[in-house]
Amino acid sequence: MPPLPTERAILGVPGPVFFGLLVLLAIAAFVYSMSRRVRVLLATSPENRFDRIGARIRKTVEYAFLQKRMFRDLYAGVFHIFLFTGFVVLLVRTVALVVEGLVPGFRVLPGTAGDVYTFAKDVFEVLVLAGVAMAVARRAFARPPRLDLTADAWFILFLIALLISADLLAEGAKAALAPRLASAWAPAVSAIARSLSGLPATRLTALYEAAWWTHLVDILFFGNYLPYSKHFHIITAVPNVFFMKLDPMGRLGTPDLEASERFGVSRVEDLSWKSVLDGYTCTECGRCRVVCPTALTGKPLDPKVFIGDVRDAVYEATPAILAAASGRGDGDSSDGRKELIGGWLTEETIWACTTCGFCTSACPVFIIPAVDKITEMRRHLVLERADFPKEMQTAFRGMETNGNPWGISASARADWAKDLPVMSMAEAGERDVEVLFWVGCAGSYEDRAKRVSKAVVEILNEAGVSFAILGTQETCTGDSARRMGNEYLFQLLAQQNVETLNGYGVKKIVTNCPHCFNCIKNEYPAMGGTYEVVHATELVERLLGEGRLRFTEPIRETISYHDACYLGRYNGIYSAPRNVLRAIPGLEIQELPRTCDRGLCCGAGGGRMWMEEKLGTRINQTRMKEIEQAGTGSVGLSCPYCMIMLGNAKEEIGAILELARRAMPRENTAGRG
Ligand code: SF4
Ligand code: SF4
Repeated sequence: MPPLPTERAILGVPGPVFFGLLVLLAIAAFVYSMSRRVRVLLATSPENRFDRIGARIRKTVEYAFLQKRMFRDLYAGVFHIFLFTGFVVLLVRTVALVVEGLVPGFRVLPGTAGDVYTFAKDVFEVLVLAGVAMAVARRAFARPPRLDLTADAWFILFLIALLISADLLAEGAKAALAPRLASAWAPAVSAIARSLSGLPATRLTALYEAAWWTHLVDILFFGNYLPYSKHFHIITAVPNVFFMKLDPMGRLGTPDLEASERFGVSRVEDLSWKSVLDGYTCTECGRCRVVCPTALTGKPLDPKVFIGDVRDAVYEATPAILAAASGRGDGDSSDGRKELIGGWLTEETIWACTTCGFCTSACPVFIIPAVDKITEMRRHLVLERADFPKEMQTAFRGMETNGNPWGISASARADWAKDLPVMSMAEAGERDVEVLFWVGCAGSYEDRAKRVSKAVVEILNEAGVSFAILGTQETCTGDSARRMGNEYLFQLLAQQNVETLNGYGVKKIVTNCPHCFNCIKNEYPAMGGTYEVVHATELVERLLGEGRLRFTEPIRETISYHDACYLGRYNGIYSAPRNVLRAIPGLEIQELPRTCDRGLCCGAGGGRMWMEEKLGTRINQTRMKEIEQAGTGSVGLSCPYCMIMLGNAKEEIGAILELARRAMPRENTAGRG
């Protein structure tokens, strides 16, 4: 705080003109740097994130100001909240410093408000120093693998510590020089003043001036360094949380393919402004790295590195983008820089992602490190370059010609139900159908999953639910095609299904496949199909609650449960499968160490089911090892893809719905399955 006029004679701090010029210079430099960053946002692809303002404000309070996600790592959460709140409090201090420096004698917070603020500032400055000490200790001693020990991080911690120490010292020296002006509301400053009180006035004056200038220059430098540092998130984190994706995590954008000239993302200019803001905002905390199944199994995709590469590509492209935007370039702003795909990011990186969404749910500042961006890049590779792993061709061809990635005849789709009391929608005619059972490709064609489809039929019949299937009129939802980048094929399949479903006036759908569930529930509305979609475990849970279904046969086993990414993380369904298991007499559930929203992927999502896993160790084996270490006899599953992947790693798996069927009264299940 600049001295009062009565103090000026004692302290000899330069007048408002010099101070004003310095502040103006710093502000001008800051505005220049920020305008370059913002102009890049304006020059990249548009994306509407100005909707649902009320929800955005609520999320911002919850996640940016209260930092809810940070506390998943308690130690880091504590020191981040110290640093964050300290910065908020010091922002007021900085404004006061500038205003009071320009208008000597003026107080931004006079009277009691000033006293309360003085107390808060004093306390928070000490907490910020404690936070810096905790951060330094973690980097120096604990060294968690998610962090990279960069010089930038050390430098920022040094600047913060210097900023706070200099302020406390300046205030302490001032209080020692002029005790009558010292505030009784600043215990830390008073303690420093007492420790300095033996020094002569000339030394105190020199100390005050040095500390005051150090604090001021540090603030001005810090503000101007941020746009070039990984700590740019200090400025961008709050807006990035505000502009977070509010749509369901599992809903990808639906481009108008007929109106598009380019498909997907291949250049920095193709990125949406929100993707660029994501890059600016990455704190490099590495929380995404330590949960990512591909990074954990030695594949080239590490989401922290991925988002860092996207950001560095943006920085490299900035001069050319700005030149093109201002008409100084030739319109081709890509000259002389690395390609985004093939340069900054390898194709192996782009194809490695299982779209498990763990990185997204782990990120404290709501960056989507991989899924949406990678899918856009895959769209470019598939639709513009026809450049994709050759084994995907088989799945694409199968979906195109037979409506399933295995390529088995479309006419055999309902063969699994031949001898079962199941009717198709066509057979149902005018009869009242309560719910449509969406079987899915795995449930229709894959031997293990077909047994689960049969269990669903028995459960629905036992509970007296009137249901029907589409039979041979059902075709692949297109989930895998979309996530493998073949948006054209997805839209084709989705349109066909939506036409069929709408043609029958379907309102409610139950499915056992979390990928079909996510796709129909979250993505079909954009294709004109809006339905009430429930997962089969949710329906069974409801039927149990309504007394329409009873479990009487004990199953004396201890079982763990593996959460399917597209059911759990993507759609928040954690309790239904567990409640079904808990309702089975004799069955014990033992949770896995990584469970619910922290559950590890089986490796099948994002179309990885149809690709070879040539790099690193196998994701399914990594997950199965964790399951084995839990020491239970078997693992319960609620996804046919997980069943195939984990079944390939080891056999002791049980579908929740098969267990449910086994627990139904024996007279009703005798002789079945
Ligand atoms: S979605 Fe999953 S596999 Fe892909 S980068 Fe994120 S954590 Fe890794
Ligand atoms: S993307 Fe998010 S979780 Fe990953 S390093 Fe950046 S800030 Fe951390």
